[in-house]
Amino acid sequence: MATDCDVCGVRFDLVSGGVCTRCKKILCARHLHGSFFRRLLVDLGAPSVCVACRSGGARA
Ligand SMILES: [Zn+2]
Ligand SMILES: [Zn+2]
Repeated sequence: MATDCDVCGVRFDLVSGGVCTRCKKILCARHLHGSFFRRLLVDLGAPSVCVACRSGGARA
């Protein structure tokens, strides 16, 4: 199953990206996690909050 990133429009597999729990955008791994380390945390159970929400809050 594949979908498009709301930010960059790239087509990605839902396994690699996901939905931000804060802004509800569907995002590719790059825009949701930003880094491999962050993605690892989400894999381990951390809430998936996208790069924009983490850095700019509501302005994302
Ligand atoms: Zn993207
Ligand atoms: Zn977000």
